[in-house]
Amino acid sequence: MSRPQATLEWTNWSRTERTSPERFERPPDVESLVRVVTGAGASPVRVVGAGHSFTGAAATDGVLVSLDAIADVQHVEPRPDGTAHVTVGAGIRLGALNRALAARGLAMRNLGDIDRQSIAGAISTGTHGTGARLGGLATQVVGLRLVTAAGEVVDVDADRHGDLFQAARLGLGAVGLIAAVTLEVVPAFSLEAVEEPWPLDRVLDALDGPDGLVESNDHVEFYWFPHTRRTLTKRNNRVDPRDPGVAPPLGRVRGWVDDELLSNTVFEATNRLTAAARGLTPVVNQVAARALSARRFTAPSYEVFVTPRRVRFREMEYAIPRAALVDVLAEIDRWIERTREHVPFPVEVRFAAPDDVWLSTAYARESAYVAVHQYLRLPYRRYFSAVERIMAEVDGRPHWGKLHWLEAERLAALYPRFTDFLAVRSAQDPEGRFANPYTDRVFGPRG
Ligand SMILES: Cc1cc2nc3c(=O)[nH]c(=O)nc-3n(C[C@H](O)[C@H](O)[C@H](O)COP(=O)(O)OP(=O)(O)OC[C@H]3O[C@@H](n4cnc5c(N)ncnc54)[C@H](O)[C@@H]3O)c2cc1C
Repeated sequence: MSRPQATLEWTNWSRTERTSPERFERPPDVESLVRVVTGAGASPVRVVGAGHSFTGAAATDGVLVSLDAIADVQHVEPRPDGTAHVTVGAGIRLGALNRALAARGLAMRNLGDIDRQSIAGAISTGTHGTGARLGGLATQVVGLRLVTAAGEVVDVDADRHGDLFQAARLGLGAVGLIAAVTLEVVPAFSLEAVEEPWPLDRVLDALDGPDGLVESNDHVEFYWFPHTRRTLTKRNNRVDPRDPGVAPPLGRVRGWVDDELLSNTVFEATNRLTAAARGLTPVVNQVAARALSARRFTAPSYEVFVTPRRVRFREMEYAIPRAALVDVLAEIDRWIERTREHVPFPVEVRFAAPDDVWLSTAYARESAYVAVHQYLRLPYRRYFSAVERIMAEVDGRPHWGKLHWLEAERLAALYPRFTDFLAVRSAQDPEGRFANPYTDRVFGPRG
């Protein structure tokens, strides 16, 4: 497996991180993964999934491990209530996982908006979708097979090594390497998607209350176009596709025009235009927001959740208490108008239920997620720093895989179980063999 290699370069999807690992390993099974850990000597070991984190979560100049070859469906255990526990190799990409589940009449309860990530990478940073009654991907995990810093293989769940399970199911690879993930999945379902342009004020007025957008839809999100009062709203609800009242599937041509041509090809062109002539951004956003048209269609859940994202960008996302959302958006709007910052990318807003995963951004609190993006060719630091200051006022918690500048001391104040996490990490990895500069920053060098 390990052989001499030429100088290696690794970079992440968003090109915010670049490293030269001393070695790259691609173990084919868990025994080989153990040998990578025990044979690493003093070098740190990090696993990389799809490299889709904007932060340096996966980066190392030590041993960089890919589990792309440990990506199989290992076990399916049907449950009396129709759910199933499905064990998969940690490197499986969400797209392959979705297809494997669909082939067995099963599906993930909720997903984010792309399917390129590995399952282990996605849970390790708290990847989430939207839905006020649902949690992120880590809440769907019921068991893990870990390789520890001592080179042992341990199976953990809520009953066996419960604290290690809590820490490792969202732990940035800092408490153990995940070799396999057991997920609780549900019977396959269809979603009817209703996508409509709405004025921002109408969205904000309609959000709350028992009949409000957030409570009355299984999954709701909206994109607000800075420099305008316009949004695109997306409401996805479970339906029986045989019901004559539900919308038909999207035609192939319309799907291509919306998801490829408008969302990617034209969007890339408008971003290049505004990068070259920044003053045009408000006008371009007005035109883009007006050009959006409504659509309604029904499809298997994983096809509705996921859209292709080919325009490269940088992103910061914060989870905030749901009640703070309207004020936070108003503050961001005021800052953009005051500073005349040019922001061609929409601001994305999603929702999640409180959960019990120690380092989950939605831990014990009803959350709204506010994500700001900037096109790859445009500077992002001033905009994101301003948003970070606004989020600090409402005790916002940054997505672990997206850009932010918080450090361990501040994060400790935001997470009630932070100290418990650090205790598990110290016990599991006292020498910091699974550490990197990012974990040093967010957890502190000695955990
Ligand atoms: C275009 C785009 C769209 C996105 N959409 C969403 C979204 O809708 N919702 C959302 O919440 N996030 C979203 N993200 C963020 C993304 O889901 C996370 O950053 C996720 O962690 C990326 O998964 P990955 O497989 O690329 O992991 P990587 O970025 O490669 O790794 C992430 C972390 O997991 C660790 N890790 C990976 N595998 C293992 C393992 N086997 N054992 C231990 N640790 C491991 C790594 O060391 C690292 O710390 C998006 C990112 C992009 C670029």
